[in-house]
Amino acid sequence: MFSRKKQEIIIPYSVEQCTSCSMIKKRKFVEGDYVFKIIGKCSSCNNGQISISKIFGEVVK
Ligand SMILES: [Zn+2]
Repeated sequence: MFSRKKQEIIIPYSVEQCTSCSMIKKRKFVEGDYVFKIIGKCSSCNNGQISISKIFGEVVK
């Protein structure tokens, strides 16, 4: 039998985290993102580096 699941939309997010201070930023996933990817210098403490600590998806119903 043909069964169909209710359609769910999953929006991927990336979490950017500073290695020095506790700055954490959640933003929408961008093509090319991966865990541990270095984003750049932290603008919050001007000392640490921002890297992606987590990528996850949120289901929108
Ligand atoms: Zn920082």
